[in-house]
Amino acid sequence: MRIHALRTGSVRLKHAFLYPHRGVRRQLDLFLPGPWSDPMPIHCWAVEHERRLLLIDTGESVAARNVPFARFEVEPEQELPGALAAAGLSLEDVSEVVLTHHHGDHVDGLTHVRAPARISEAELRFIAMRFPRFMRRVLRQPLPAAFAPQPLSLDGPPFGAFARSAPLSEDRRVVAVPTSGHTPGHISVICVDDEGRHVMLAGDATDSLEQLHARRADAIAPDPGVYVQTLETILAHCAQHPTVYLPSHDPESAQRLAASVTVG
Ligand SMILES: [Zn+2]
Ligand SMILES: [Zn+2]
Repeated sequence: MRIHALRTGSVRLKHAFLYPHRGVRRQLDLFLPGPWSDPMPIHCWAVEHERRLLLIDTGESVAARNVPFARFEVEPEQELPGALAAAGLSLEDVSEVVLTHHHGDHVDGLTHVRAPARISEAELRFIAMRFPRFMRRVLRQPLPAAFAPQPLSLDGPPFGAFARSAPLSEDRRVVAVPTSGHTPGHISVICVDDEGRHVMLAGDATDSLEQLHARRADAIAPDPGVYVQTLETILAHCAQHPTVYLPSHDPESAQRLAASVTVG
């Protein structure tokens, strides 16, 4: 098995997003002036296994529009085709795409992909609801025209600390697990590498390893309680299995993957 970190540009996030206050200011501060983070990577991942190439997320595109709490920096050559080429891969190699959640910095690259895509059933249900549809209009964040994923149901057996799962490979070494919080249908993908380590492609379950240890919900989670419960489950999983934890926007994710650094 080979896992590649692909990078499709950068995003800066407002501190109010990464370190929110509790209570009413948690979401209000997102729309007020405040300090910003340094540029953080927009990663997606390519997993070579069983003679297939599985993409986890597809990254951002130059069409990205800023929102009051996120500023995107993507050059044309940083989009998915260029990011794959930098890893010695090409679009024609892609067998399937699995999306962690529906946000643009994870799905806008679908524009380039002809392979089939899947996203969790719960995320598809959430996307169709009135409030998220309203917010996509207000924030000018339309789903890309190429967005037509099939539903992935996580009705398989428990996997480590996770109550449910969905196998993504024949040998079940690549598995989707529910990580609801950032969005209601958010999933992560765990790959059991050749040494038996669990490499967790965590999407936006958190934005950093520090946030996982701090058990801190982000500012846009519909229910911070659900978010923190998921972080407890991830930490429990990391205690059961040596786990390399890789959020999409953690500046240290690519290095942790390269050096197989597990959560201590
Ligand atoms: Zn997101
Ligand atoms: Zn993201």
